[in-house]
Amino acid sequence: MKNSRNDNREETIIPPVLPTYARADIAIEYGKGVYAYDQNDKEYLDYGSGIGVNNLGFCHPELVKTITEQAGKVWHTSNIYRIPGQERLAQRLAENTFADTMFFTNSGAEAVECAMKMARRYHAENESPERYRIITFEGCFHGRTLATIAASGQEKLIKGFGPMMEGFDHVPFYRDMSKVEAAITYETAAIMIEPVMGEGGIKQVSSDNMRILRDLCDKHDILLILDEVQCGMGRTEKLFAYQHSHISPDILCTAKGIGAGFPLGACLATEEVGRCMNAGSHGSTYGGNPMAMAVGNKVLDILLADGFFDHVEKMSYDLRKGLMTLRHRHPRVIELVRGIGLMLGLKLNIEPPAFVAKAIEHGLLVVGAADNTVRLLPPLIIEKNHIDEALEKLTKICAEIEKELPEPQSDEE
Ligand SMILES: *Cc1c(COP(=O)(O)O)cnc(C)c1O
Repeated sequence: MKNSRNDNREETIIPPVLPTYARADIAIEYGKGVYAYDQNDKEYLDYGSGIGVNNLGFCHPELVKTITEQAGKVWHTSNIYRIPGQERLAQRLAENTFADTMFFTNSGAEAVECAMKMARRYHAENESPERYRIITFEGCFHGRTLATIAASGQEKLIKGFGPMMEGFDHVPFYRDMSKVEAAITYETAAIMIEPVMGEGGIKQVSSDNMRILRDLCDKHDILLILDEVQCGMGRTEKLFAYQHSHISPDILCTAKGIGAGFPLGACLATEEVGRCMNAGSHGSTYGGNPMAMAVGNKVLDILLADGFFDHVEKMSYDLRKGLMTLRHRHPRVIELVRGIGLMLGLKLNIEPPAFVAKAIEHGLLVVGAADNTVRLLPPLIIEKNHIDEALEKLTKICAEIEKELPEPQSDEE
């Protein structure tokens, strides 16, 4: 192939790391709590948490201790043997959720893959093999594997990757639930949704709409899959976002925050669904390895400790209040504040990358998203002073951006 390269093509130099990311030109060398430091020792207040992953900040002393101790015992054994850390983490997650059983993965996309396989298998085992299609929502994000990009169906994710895996029906996101029912056919296996859309721009499904989805699933004998890879594990003030509504799913995917920076994910399910998976039906070499399990159990210790979620709720209240004030003062920059818990979004009147770059200049890390939104996903351990500091930086950022905006035109529409 190398020799068949088109010589007429302009000479390009590809870097040794595949250029699949539009990276900011900083490298974090170390971090402590809510602060990150780059190669020049410049300090950043972290309101991105590595995209909702480092929920307990950098180098949480208990996590460092846990992982160091585990590293001196055993890293990997394989799932051909029992892994006691899995049994313990599964038991504890089950006690605190709808789930009876679960499968551990290394990432979010793998958790979603497991969910989709289970949904198909469930119907196949229940004498409805014709039920294999999954309804998903426009603008959703479920990962980057071939199946999960097909699930999303977004042009920017699937372009150039050939025939897509068949079996997904896309409906508009949450506004009009009648479109969901209209999309259900005798072939539908499941509805899959993010209770709070992350990459799509921090959009929350109301409790009422969660209820409607649950009822539709019950009425049509289909499964409800929740992708809580980003909104789960305390991000919304509860262990999982669905716990704000009075419904429970059949399957739930988690990852990101569950490992607080160590690769870990899980696919949780009810007994009824889980029963369809037997020995040999699914697997992963690394999924649920002893290192990941030690971290996952410790993360859960910290999240489930008395008062942890109350703290998140309190911080969320203060941050939101400050952001509302900011929006009132800078309506030309910020159009809307949305989200729940410490999963907040600023819908902007400018392009998110410009805002993110300006924030980096001011020593603040935030994350862009679709729909002109910038995400604020600080570690859940922030304190009041970190909120004040963020608001101070955001005020300066907005003021500077405002100055660079063209003079407002008089509205004549
Ligand atoms: C990040 C994310 C994924 C994919 O997780 P990976 O660990 O990158 O595979 C899936 N679903 C949602 C909602 C996410 O935010």
